[in-house]
Amino acid sequence: MTYRDIALEYFPGATDDFLEYVIWNETGYPCFWCIPEDGANPVECFRKQLVEARGRRDEWPKRKMVKIMSEFKRCSNCGRYDFVDKHICPPEWQVYIPDWHDPDEPPERGFGHDQESVAEGYVEEHFSDLDYPEEVEIWVRKDSSCAWDKFSVTIEQVPSFSATKIKG
Ligand SMILES: [Zn+2]
Repeated sequence: MTYRDIALEYFPGATDDFLEYVIWNETGYPCFWCIPEDGANPVECFRKQLVEARGRRDEWPKRKMVKIMSEFKRCSNCGRYDFVDKHICPPEWQVYIPDWHDPDEPPERGFGHDQESVAEGYVEEHFSDLDYPEEVEIWVRKDSSCAWDKFSVTIEQVPSFSATKIKG
């Protein structure tokens, strides 16, 4: 369990940006969070500070929270995360993945400024890590008057690092 998971118990459904804000700005984390007044161990202290933070939620800086809560969203058209007031969808393309799509159905929609970014963006958004492919063939064209261009998208796992404090 991470501190982010604990914070989520007090703010169910919160976005990662929201939790990041609460942890860094509304609790004592990372310098003044483990203090005897708040509990016997770091987790107890953190939980008490989260309850207090939730209790004074009306006092949190308004402008900053509004930006985190409402302006940064996933576009319902192109699926990109962006600040909604500045967002313009990238150009639309047609995409087809032989392994995933039915050839009798109309092509799927992809978005991007060139074919490579359309191919990468579409695969990134739609691949399932339960069925982890290493390479996906994807076809891209601007519209039905153009021929398909075929791409192979390679998916690499990114190493992840996490430190655990050693006792004693
Ligand atoms: Zn969009």
